[in-house]
Amino acid sequence: MTPPDPATVPDLPAALAARPRDPRRGLPIPPVNLHPGPDGAPSAVDFTTINTTTSTDLAADRRCSLCGEPMGYWVAFLGTPRAAELLRYTDPPGHPECMTAALTLCPHIAIARHRRARADRPGGGIMPPGAHGTKPDGWTLGITRTYRSVFVAAHGFTVYLPAPFRTAYAYAYGPDGRLHHRTGTV
Ligand SMILES: [Zn+2]
Repeated sequence: MTPPDPATVPDLPAALAARPRDPRRGLPIPPVNLHPGPDGAPSAVDFTTINTTTSTDLAADRRCSLCGEPMGYWVAFLGTPRAAELLRYTDPPGHPECMTAALTLCPHIAIARHRRARADRPGGGIMPPGAHGTKPDGWTLGITRTYRSVFVAAHGFTVYLPAPFRTAYAYAYGPDGRLHHRTGTV
């Protein structure tokens, strides 16, 4: 079986389209961006921070962090080129189709000037150990079959260790500040 090519996936996969929308921007709200509100209900939306309880549960069930549906044969990780090199992520996996859509839907990924100064992960919030340093100059979408989840109790979050990528796609910011596909399979 061949991993899906990002060039051929729809702009908005059906499972993402079925998610509740952010009223301000109309963006689908991933389950991992819902946070407990003042009354404890998962009502507060924050696109820049990941609810690590939700993301850990979804990943343990092999469900997509962006649409919440079960992942199939392939799973995808989206992060910095460095994360792809180390095969170490603090952001949970998702459908290749959903992760590809995030590249264009998620403002702080799609547009360079929306990048937060120290952000080198889509979720923001917690800086994982060893992830500090240079600003990301792009993103890598890696596609594989399996991954391991390791809960780092000292930091209160889960680290995801994907199996070697079957394919990976690199994206870089162009002179216009927008993200462009750079290279194909690695
Ligand atoms: Zn999905």
